[in-house]
Amino acid sequence: MQFNIEYSYKSLNDKIEKLTTKQEEIHCESVSKALDKAKLEVNKWMKIDDTIVVFSDLKNSTGISFDKQDRTMTKLLEYLNNPFIEIHNNFEAEFVEIKGDGGIAIYSKENAIKALLASISIKTYYERHIAKKVFDTYGVSFEVTIGIAKGNLKLKNIGQRGLNFPVWAGKPINLAALISKELKKKKTPTNHIGITADLYKEIEDKDLQEYIYLSCGCPEGRDKQNLWKVETIPNNGGKKYHYMNNSWCKYHGQEYLDKILYLLDFY
Ligand SMILES: [Zn+2]
Repeated sequence: MQFNIEYSYKSLNDKIEKLTTKQEEIHCESVSKALDKAKLEVNKWMKIDDTIVVFSDLKNSTGISFDKQDRTMTKLLEYLNNPFIEIHNNFEAEFVEIKGDGGIAIYSKENAIKALLASISIKTYYERHIAKKVFDTYGVSFEVTIGIAKGNLKLKNIGQRGLNFPVWAGKPINLAALISKELKKKKTPTNHIGITADLYKEIEDKDLQEYIYLSCGCPEGRDKQNLWKVETIPNNGGKKYHYMNNSWCKYHGQEYLDKILYLLDFY
């Protein structure tokens, strides 16, 4: 190979100058449309309103990789990422990306509640099928926090022909990551899901309080608890988020999920 330092810096400068001086935007109705269009447009950013971003990552993963054998880490990455990808895909996420010990999933605004339902389903799977196995085998706790935020996003494929990557810009990415980080400070096991206040309100707007705000009241069905707590997102002008540590009930989970999906279809 050859790399001409001066020539390549100049050509990068020219390219970046051109891309940053006349940035244009195209408004897109959905995340899928933005992704399709971003492939064709070289110079324009796609803009999508009120998207839902899910950010999820493993707690303490760097600690685990230093302390334990490499094989532990590679297994943990399978346990963590396969459910995240498959279940978000089942719930019709329009974009899913994995970055080592975490991932993001992006939904268009009409699927806001589905982003939450997918997250509860993933969390339930981790708790029922993964956490104990990981602890028994490796002596480490499998803790995953999930942040979900709503807001406008911009998208562009950055790079060159044959080597470009979708790059997202916008507040919900940062907020979702920040919520996930905040939840890691909670008392262990921190398998919490946190959502921004506008998303929490949407549950009420769609008349789903009975199924999402409250527990099923097992075992007798009489002791229905409010599942959510509220807190302020640090350094964000007093913005609030709601969080909970509940998962699908073994007896009522399917019934609740079916009912919510049925109600969403009618909404
Ligand atoms: Zn129940």
